[in-house]
Amino acid sequence: MFFSSSNPRFRIYTTPSSYASVAKDVLTGNVRSGDDCSVLEMHVSETVGAQYALCMPKARVGIFLAVSQLVRKGGKIILSPYTLSDVINMVLCAGAIPVFADIDRDTCNIDPDQIEKLVDDETDAVLITHLHGYSCDMDRIVKICRKNNLSLIEDAAQAFGAKFKGKQVGTFGDAGIFSFGMYKHVNSFFGGMLVTSNDNVYKSIRSKMEVFPWQETGYFLKKMLIGLASDIATYPPLFKSLTYWIFSYAYLHDIEFLNRKVKVDLDPKSKTVLPESYLRRMTPMQARVIENQLPVVNDNIEKRIEAAEVYHEGLKDIEELVLPPMLSDGSHIYTHYPLQAPDREALIKYMIRNGRDVAVQHLRNCADLDCFKSFFRDCPEARKAADQNILLSTYPRYGLEQVEENVRVIRGYFGK
Ligand SMILES: *Cc1c(COP(=O)(O)O)cnc(C)c1O
Repeated sequence: MFFSSSNPRFRIYTTPSSYASVAKDVLTGNVRSGDDCSVLEMHVSETVGAQYALCMPKARVGIFLAVSQLVRKGGKIILSPYTLSDVINMVLCAGAIPVFADIDRDTCNIDPDQIEKLVDDETDAVLITHLHGYSCDMDRIVKICRKNNLSLIEDAAQAFGAKFKGKQVGTFGDAGIFSFGMYKHVNSFFGGMLVTSNDNVYKSIRSKMEVFPWQETGYFLKKMLIGLASDIATYPPLFKSLTYWIFSYAYLHDIEFLNRKVKVDLDPKSKTVLPESYLRRMTPMQARVIENQLPVVNDNIEKRIEAAEVYHEGLKDIEELVLPPMLSDGSHIYTHYPLQAPDREALIKYMIRNGRDVAVQHLRNCADLDCFKSFFRDCPEARKAADQNILLSTYPRYGLEQVEENVRVIRGYFGK
């Protein structure tokens, strides 16, 4: 049965220099020295075309700060339910009321028609997510926000570098947020950036952050070690000879304690008070890790688009599947290639039996979660996407021959 095994479904975007630069800073006592946070902020704000950028301890803290600034206490914010549960928590911690608007299944992004239907007198803002690196329809969303005098926040955690009609996502509204977390395509183990061209938003958030303590080096090193362990476990020779067999065995045989290791957001709970540990300032050491990765962002986007083209060409005739649109103009940077399949568990098991390493999209339809039941709204499209999404790998080190192999196996499953 197991003839060949694939490259891992994900590899984090670290390089040896990520570890080397941290080791050097820690050993020489330079974690907090240097003006690299300001340098990085300048660099990012110039690259994306925003007036200001602010380093964040995590992208979600940027969402919290933006919502706190732009939504009145008890004001409503319309958002996609197909996201991390902690994004909803940031809205709650900021004292706002989440109003779930269903998504469009083909794009996995919020449906502008739904936003329009849900706006009322209590609505202060719209929070959109450019999911999987795919820009939302900014022409329509900006228009709806202007017409109704709503603030616009963009969760571009997965979309750093994506553009809508040539303009970088994150710069259309009052605040845009990027993540540089462990599984993002710029990886500083955790961390993020908020961009804005709104003077008030900038000044107010900057002054709030000035009193945050520095991120502790011990915490950073702990996260970095998790990154290192992931880098080792997914190092292809080791992955193919060991890691893959353990995790695929666990998946096929429902061994829960191992399956849990590769799942995220397992037990969503609602939060209404921001954890104190979220309020930290990024260190210059961490800014340097991010800065080192910026030169390859665009090359990596091109490689992911190439992978998407192979998936698209190979799968577009399979009627049972919902594929993302194929766009090569930078409006979709294919952070992953999301594929919706009617019986995804069966497809995944088939793929694993054929030596492929694939995973479900772990995001849930937050509108259906028990912990947010007081904000329940029926979002059938988000429910279907959350049930059916599989993430196919596109990361640059994966290799186009691996993409072709995924296509071949999926075609085989559908008898093609
Ligand atoms: C990863 C992610 C976040 C959170 O980013 P952090 O830096 O971990 O806070 C928020 N929204 C989306 C869509 C994400 O993928």
